[in-house]
Amino acid sequence: MTGPHSQKRGSMEDNTNIPAQMVEFANRITPPNWNIFTAYHGRFNYAPNTLNVWLELLTEEQADDLDEEFIAQVRGAMWFSDLEPMGKGKGFIAKIDMQMNPFFFDVWQEAMAHELAHVAVTRLSARSMPRSLRFGIAQNVEPEMHGPLFLKAFRCMILRAKAAYGKELDVKDMWFSYCMYVDGLKQKDSVKKKLFGLAPKKAYQQWYQGKQNLGIDS
Ligand SMILES: [Zn+2]
Repeated sequence: MTGPHSQKRGSMEDNTNIPAQMVEFANRITPPNWNIFTAYHGRFNYAPNTLNVWLELLTEEQADDLDEEFIAQVRGAMWFSDLEPMGKGKGFIAKIDMQMNPFFFDVWQEAMAHELAHVAVTRLSARSMPRSLRFGIAQNVEPEMHGPLFLKAFRCMILRAKAAYGKELDVKDMWFSYCMYVDGLKQKDSVKKKLFGLAPKKAYQQWYQGKQNLGIDS
């Protein structure tokens, strides 16, 4: 996820508790066989059918050296491994990497729901591939990076976040971002209309209002 804000905000120093919260949040809004962990919170899981998501929290130094700035991103392909040659039993496991930029930790929930939606689309595309082709090559195959499949997955993450955290978590900005992606979609109006319909009415109104405040023509 890259944002319109190039100005750096927030810092990890005053957010020392965030890595543990990130791991908890990601695990609560994803299916039970997804295992999200950082180098310090959680660990790799070899149970068959597990999707291991390694969450790499960049240091401020690493974030300063990025060629292209991002808020968060999925890094590389989803890898599949056969457990048997590793002596870990029968079946397959998958792994994918995600990176978070510490300068944007004030929007980490939104960034994480967004990136996990990309992971869900990648997982879905991997499922439709023959097993022999999966090894190390499954990537997001939706022609449009933020197409209808992505939006459905993003919506699902937002709903799960709301269900998991209730009043503790404000998901307004997540819905706002969802509506922005629907609006930017290069798709038929009928597809857009359907996707807009999946957002709560309030979120749609907020997006519309925000758009007008920004002076963007509808
Ligand atoms: Zn994205």
